[in-house]
Amino acid sequence: MEEIKISIVVPLYNEEAVFDKLIERISNVINQTNFTCEVILINDGSKDKTPFLIEQLCKKDKRFTGVLLSRNHGHQLAVTAGLNYVRGTEGAMIIDGDLQDPPELINEFYSLMQEGYDVVYAVRKNRKESDLKKFAYWIYYRLQQKISNFTIPIDSGDFSMISRRVVDTMNEMPEQSRYLRGMRSWVGFKQKAFEYDRDERQAGQTKYSWKKLFELAFNGIFNFSDFPVRIITRLGLLTILLSIFYFSYIIYNKIVNHNVPQGFTTLIFAIILFSGVQLLSLGLIGEYVLRIYNQVRNRPLFIIDKIIQAGEEKDKK
Ligand code: UDP
Ligand code: MG
Repeated sequence: MEEIKISIVVPLYNEEAVFDKLIERISNVINQTNFTCEVILINDGSKDKTPFLIEQLCKKDKRFTGVLLSRNHGHQLAVTAGLNYVRGTEGAMIIDGDLQDPPELINEFYSLMQEGYDVVYAVRKNRKESDLKKFAYWIYYRLQQKISNFTIPIDSGDFSMISRRVVDTMNEMPEQSRYLRGMRSWVGFKQKAFEYDRDERQAGQTKYSWKKLFELAFNGIFNFSDFPVRIITRLGLLTILLSIFYFSYIIYNKIVNHNVPQGFTTLIFAIILFSGVQLLSLGLIGEYVLRIYNQVRNRPLFIIDKIIQAGEEKDKK
């Protein structure tokens, strides 16, 4: 058997309506590539015929591997499961199962990888979703980019091709709440944006409820940003500063104008001051929590591109 170069990872949750079309498009694509591909279909606990269809297909066509999860684990974990079974020696392509991401782009992605990129990620030029969703995505991606600890590209989803070493590194990241597009950027190496038009879902309904979207967004923010905790400390400092200004203002008024109302100025001052102290304390505890979080998340401390030793490039392992 020829060596598998690229594994195409496709998560599927209740996608019976689009399944045949999907397999037809993907089959056409892998028949034409000049490198060998396998396709990993993950059933994410579908309640429809999807697992049955996957099993049937994988039993008769060896290029397809089925990974059937015990229940619905969510998109990110379904892809994670798929990435664990990647046999492609050069890497994997991650695509949605509803044909919003054209599988035909595999050739373009692959040739960019040949040019030395480790990650080619697709960026949506336009979306064909409801205006409300578009707006929510617009705000979210910009907010995320502003506050994350390193740059996570705007408007890029999981649709991408990643090299073998990126697959391996992501598989070695044991974090429980997974935000793959963030992890993919975090890994580093040379990454390339590829603009494309996102198609409409070919059949069936979106499997991402608002609840699932919010969960994803939360992971995107809290897994890659210290900002929410740091803002508390800053707010605390600001409040304490405010109380000092207020105090000075009262003293000034007392000495110069003699018209300070009796009784409640001390009260207000105390309330502002101690609100500030409490916020600051919360922020400080938050700092420790952040450190604990970083430690237990157990991401690799560094990722090596190459080592040049004794005048020669060394294999990193
Ligand atoms: N998906 C999944 N598990 C889920 C939700 C979605 O495996 O719990 C899959 C789904 O079958 C599709 C992909 O993830 O292949 C993207 O989902 P969807 O198209 O519904 O999301 P949208 O494009 O609307 O954001
Ligand atoms: Mg979709």
